[in-house]
Amino acid sequence: MARLTTLAPRLCALDTRTSRPPPKQADPELLTAEHKAWRLEVLKRAHWRCQWPGCGAQGGRGGVRLYADHIVERRDGGAALDPANGQALCSRHHSLKTARARAERMGL
Ligand SMILES: [Zn+2]
Repeated sequence: MARLTTLAPRLCALDTRTSRPPPKQADPELLTAEHKAWRLEVLKRAHWRCQWPGCGAQGGRGGVRLYADHIVERRDGGAALDPANGQALCSRHHSLKTARARAERMGL
């Protein structure tokens, strides 16, 4: 029996959007010196490692990208500049945690 293979599409998908979303802009609150100091403190305290249980990915020079994450998100009332409300997460776990928080917020 002949084996079916997946063929690459011959045509590009047509972008039919009439308007494009505006370019992403960083939240001004994240650009302040206070936030930068908070971020650095959170990442240093974690020794530049992802704090997700079982991960521990190394950040810093030559390492993965790390995010200083608000444990209780700012939009959920979490303190923006309290180091106790911060944890270092790699991009994979930061995305996962953010998606879970969003789903919880939406009651999913
Ligand atoms: Zn991680």
